[in-house]
Amino acid sequence: MTRKLRPATQLVRGGTIRSNFGETSEAMFLTSGFVYDSAEQAEATFKNEIEHYQYSRFANPTLTMLEDRLAALEGADLCRLMATGMAAVHSTLLSHLKTGDRLVASRALFGSCHWIITTLLPQYGMETEFVDGGDLAQWGVALSRPATMVLLESPSNPMLELVDVVAVAKLAHAAGALVVVDNVFATPLLQKPLEQGADIVVYSCTKHMDGQGRVLGGAVLGPKKWVEETLMPFIRNTGPAMSPFNAWVILKGLETLKLRVDQMCRNAAAVADFLSERTEISRVLYPFRADHPQHALAVQQMTGGGTLVTFDVKGGKDATFRFMNALNLVDISNNLGDSKSLATHPATTTHMRIGPEERAKLGITDGTVRLSVGLEDIADLIEDLAEALDAVGGMATARAAE
Ligand SMILES: *Cc1c(COP(=O)(O)O)cnc(C)c1O
Repeated sequence: MTRKLRPATQLVRGGTIRSNFGETSEAMFLTSGFVYDSAEQAEATFKNEIEHYQYSRFANPTLTMLEDRLAALEGADLCRLMATGMAAVHSTLLSHLKTGDRLVASRALFGSCHWIITTLLPQYGMETEFVDGGDLAQWGVALSRPATMVLLESPSNPMLELVDVVAVAKLAHAAGALVVVDNVFATPLLQKPLEQGADIVVYSCTKHMDGQGRVLGGAVLGPKKWVEETLMPFIRNTGPAMSPFNAWVILKGLETLKLRVDQMCRNAAAVADFLSERTEISRVLYPFRADHPQHALAVQQMTGGGTLVTFDVKGGKDATFRFMNALNLVDISNNLGDSKSLATHPATTTHMRIGPEERAKLGITDGTVRLSVGLEDIADLIEDLAEALDAVGGMATARAAE
């Protein structure tokens, strides 16, 4: 078929390889190795003269199906899967960067990405520099000198800050840098970084792709030459491979990705509107609300506002903990993109280790809550949030009366 299929179709059909048995659902190849018909065939395989699976650290048919499906969806030449999202980020950076190379990154990164950049890379003599992702002038200054790579996350965790991918990619390319976008919060459906000038896209498949809280996974998507010559030797020899079982679970997750993400976006938008009306809340961040500081960029760069809402509860940590503890339906958890709604208090969990100064720079307060909005009925979600906010107010009134 030469016709380009639309995303909903690619998510169900892309990359499927049927075995001789004609199974409907993708087969799970739980095998570590593969056998050869002859010693000659093994030799030819190792000489790269023929295509034949060798060992599941390098490639596996269930992974191939998921890789081809994700590459088609993203519009990338090639995809390689990893055991986790962090393995994907780490392999992307470490396969490419050498001692003396320079990396420029947006400050608002997932906690472990932050650790790699501030702690691990300097150990290998790589120079790293953070900028405020939303400030193009800072990108301009940082990229006025040559750089090797740029890493950015948009929207960011947890403050949903956006980076202008088109503008930063231009600056980065002029500085000689490859642009890597961590596209987890946007999902492959709401933002297309490769069309906006990025070179490489990374995902944690743990989030929306599985989306049902079952398995970990990561993906790197990029140009054929870079994947084959830079990334592949690194992953073949260092071994961050995804399990075929996890790849199969994620393949099945993708079949409902569009349905889930579309509904979660509708729920998130409704939750954001509800929260913005409540007096217990001092700030609501949702990229597709007109009051988001980068709303214009959001609607230009994304096709939906995403599945997360970040907000501040008035009254600091005490009031915020009271609110979270009063939630009955929404769970307290640090995961996101799940069909179950999950609330996180970044200052004491995901962003505890970066310290108060860095949190202040990112705008994370003791009242900040990151809500990953799931698939529950929106009326039930809003009732749960309303009851928990009433509990905060009730306590405050009771105290004031004392
Ligand atoms: C979760 C996440 C990661 C790490 O993925 P894991 O699968 O947990 O290793 C990286 N970046 C972002 C933005 C994430 O949300």
